[in-house]
Amino acid sequence: MKELVERIQNDGRVLNEDVLKVDQFLTHQVDPDLMEKIGTEFATFFGNEGVTKVVTLESSGISPAIFTAKELSVPMIYARKSKSLTMNEELLTSSVYSFTKQQTNQISISKKFLSPNDRVLIIDDFLANGQAAKGLIELCQQAGATVVGVGIVIEKAFQPGHQLIVDMGVPVYSLARIKSLSMNQVSFLEEDQA
Ligand code: 5GP
Repeated sequence: MKELVERIQNDGRVLNEDVLKVDQFLTHQVDPDLMEKIGTEFATFFGNEGVTKVVTLESSGISPAIFTAKELSVPMIYARKSKSLTMNEELLTSSVYSFTKQQTNQISISKKFLSPNDRVLIIDDFLANGQAAKGLIELCQQAGATVVGVGIVIEKAFQPGHQLIVDMGVPVYSLARIKSLSMNQVSFLEEDQA
């Protein structure tokens, strides 16, 4: 997605060889116009899959996920990273090792929001080692729901997440794929160059 690639080039900051900071438009301050276009792109790509729910992980996945859900006219559910006091019903849970925080979180969704009739599209901001996406797929599978795909805003293609998810039998569609963050520079896979 050309506009996203340009935005990463203009506003992204390479923190080190593994981590890109995009807090100007995605992970802290959020650009709603760009998120709307991202939502339209995911909704168009997965438009024939009969999606009934969009699922993401709090907090940075929520903005692209809500615009995708709006475009598909379905609800969006975000998995929580900590248990809220009001979550007193039965939960679907799985453990996710966080790449950026270097800690393991128990993620959860109330059982009542997913059923075997659901066809789920998972959306997240980044794909690195694939642990967040894998945890979300496992939650959906616990509910007996079908995961039709994973939509990622920024994939770091030099990390193994994409292959991990494809090996679970779930297709991955990423809007910008980064080949490398070395030498303090963001390089994209050739097909994704702006
Ligand atoms: P994974 O589980 O695929 O290893 O990592 C995905 C999660 O880690 C995403 O939900 C995202 O929040 C975070 N993440 C991974 N890599 C980066 C990065 O380079 N920059 C930022 N801002 N977040 C990242």
